[in-house]
Amino acid sequence: LSVTELEEARRALDAPLFADLAGDAKVSFEFFPPKTEKMEAALWNAISTLLPLEPDFVSVTYGAGGSTRERTHATVARIAAETNVPAAAHLTCVDASKDEIAEVARAYWDAGVRHIVALRGDPPREGEKFAPHADGYQSAAELVAGLSRIAPFEISVAAYPEMHPEATCADTDIDNLKRKIDAGASRAITQFFFSPDAFFRFRDRAVAAGITADLLPGILPVSNVAQTRKFAAMCGAAIPPWMDRLFDGLDDHPGTRQLVAATVAAEMCRKLYAGGVRDLHFYTLNRAELAYAICHLLGKRPVGGVKPLEMAA
Ligand code: FAD
Repeated sequence: LSVTELEEARRALDAPLFADLAGDAKVSFEFFPPKTEKMEAALWNAISTLLPLEPDFVSVTYGAGGSTRERTHATVARIAAETNVPAAAHLTCVDASKDEIAEVARAYWDAGVRHIVALRGDPPREGEKFAPHADGYQSAAELVAGLSRIAPFEISVAAYPEMHPEATCADTDIDNLKRKIDAGASRAITQFFFSPDAFFRFRDRAVAAGITADLLPGILPVSNVAQTRKFAAMCGAAIPPWMDRLFDGLDDHPGTRQLVAATVAAEMCRKLYAGGVRDLHFYTLNRAELAYAICHLLGKRPVGGVKPLEMAA
């Protein structure tokens, strides 16, 4: 066994049992804006199931090239208006001038949205390189600085435990994260990953670089390896070989795949918890069950006082 594997095995043994977890982790949930009425119903169902877990915040993604501008706005604005859970809007620099971004940001502020997840974004067409708009922002760090000038938003940014695919090395990627924090972001949410030690090594590097902002691991519960492999290829996350072995033979067993997905993700959260992590961000893909099950295993229970969503859309 390598030193890393031994360290990982030791940490797994040291981790408290699920039943002994204190339920003191803070959680947040990411959703994407729905395209159809059916998807919309699924989204609001997921949101109303997860809200009683009193998330720290929920966030709504922004489609490539601003393709979901109106739908992202409508979704975040509705959460802000109808619940008392802070809602964050993702916003990217792709195909938008600084003036257009300012307009979008002001509309959020006017709708009561105070938290933006500021991203550079990917090119709208796969395989192309990111090219900034002639009057736009070149990077997420520039976007963070620009948003801070518009209104006193709370700003989160993206981070990459296994490096952004365009970064030349891990150190320059951390330097870039530091630039985003120094420009005004107070939190970084990571790309998904499947090795807790990859996250711990990234956290060590960030702390050594003087980053004191909160670092939230992004948790993607996987029930479809083929689909996850596609996402992972685009964003530089490694899929461990054991993932294929775990799902081998389950193609015709969707229920079992869900149980395995919850078990694997919960186990990773348990190891992260043992390493001191108390903030977990879940990529829900607009489904509540997996995130809800994992949160339950981590000791999270519904609390009263969360304003329920008015489901009449
Ligand atoms: P940046 O931080 O600007 O970095 C991009 C790359 O450029 C990195 O390799 C960085 O190291 C390098 N770089 C930047 N500036 C410099 C510099 N001055 N010198 C050298 N190198 C530099 N995409 C969407 O389209 N919509 C979403 O809603 C969305 N949500 C996301 C949420 C999370 C939590 C994460 C992790 C990603 C999300 N993405 C989303 C994907 C994201 O847009 C892509 O990963 C994109 O390729 C990079 O965005 P960024 O904000 O990290 O860019």
